[in-house]
Amino acid sequence: MGKGRVLGYLPAMEAEQPADLEPGPPLEARATAEPPAVLEARELVRIYGAIRAADGLSLTVRDGDIYGFLGRNGAGKTTAIRMFMGIIRPDAGTIAIRGEVSKRLSLRHKQQIGYVAQEQHFYPWMTCRALGDFVAGLYPSWDDQEFERLLRAFDLPADRKSSELSQGMRVKLALALAIAPRPPLLILDEPTAGLDPVARREFLEIVRHQVRTSGQTVFFSSHLMDEVERIADRVGIIERGRLVFEGTLTLLRESVRRVGPFEVPTSPPPGLSALPAAIGGTTWVGPPEAWAAYPELSSETLGLDDIFIALVGRTSG
Ligand code: ATP
Repeated sequence: MGKGRVLGYLPAMEAEQPADLEPGPPLEARATAEPPAVLEARELVRIYGAIRAADGLSLTVRDGDIYGFLGRNGAGKTTAIRMFMGIIRPDAGTIAIRGEVSKRLSLRHKQQIGYVAQEQHFYPWMTCRALGDFVAGLYPSWDDQEFERLLRAFDLPADRKSSELSQGMRVKLALALAIAPRPPLLILDEPTAGLDPVARREFLEIVRHQVRTSGQTVFFSSHLMDEVERIADRVGIIERGRLVFEGTLTLLRESVRRVGPFEVPTSPPPGLSALPAAIGGTTWVGPPEAWAAYPELSSETLGLDDIFIALVGRTSG
């Protein structure tokens, strides 16, 4: 699995730095032999009036990734996913699926992606099985046996109408419908929103098991760090329409640290950058090599929730 990259310090945060702090340079990947990219977004922009919902968004999902796309409410996750799916067009930037750049997703591309939207809209009178028959007509690669297996594995009542399903059942049905055509890539937009903690965990286990046994690549959005930690092996953190981090959770843990408790310098040395004091104390970000270059600097690791808040939180007041 590729190690990924730290995007380092981004302009959205630079604006909040004290003027005397020099932002560190962007930190590039040094990973070797990374699997091929399945989905590549480059400099995507999508503007709604005064809101830049995507503001130069770039990210890379690689073959075999379980990629957690993490961001606060309103950070731009759904906008990005809707662009990936060709539901809305970017105002600028490119999206490539398996290396093929497209402004508008072709049918062939769409058939390679299983998509679970934030809200599921099914024909209410159709049963789970009838919905399978309906969706089968849209995908030449539909696997009926696999769909029946998924209905059983997900404990879904095949002959119950979709209007009579609970929210958890609806999400699982959407996942079964997305998986049965055996697409190489699954895109899930906050799939666990609206599920209770037990159903949420069960759903994540299903996704993890499914992916590990089928070799599919998964890109899923969430605003919950614990969810991403549970199943993702790579994470992209979005804030105000742009990525502030992309890489493994290990890299994330190594990159964002609180400085202290001993002497705390007034400004970060080259290679490290200051983050807004959203979690209290002095928190800097930089690649592990940069931290290692200052052995005299005392610093401590943070929990993933604190890291997330440090990267995307704003100073109060
Ligand atoms: P959440 O976690 O709450 O679902 P999100 O990260 O998916 O949020 P988006 O839904 O992509 O965020 O929204 C990003 C920004 O773009 C928000 O400020 C939102 O209000 C704005 N936005 C999204 N869609 C539209 C639209 N159709 N018209 C106007 N503004 C929009």
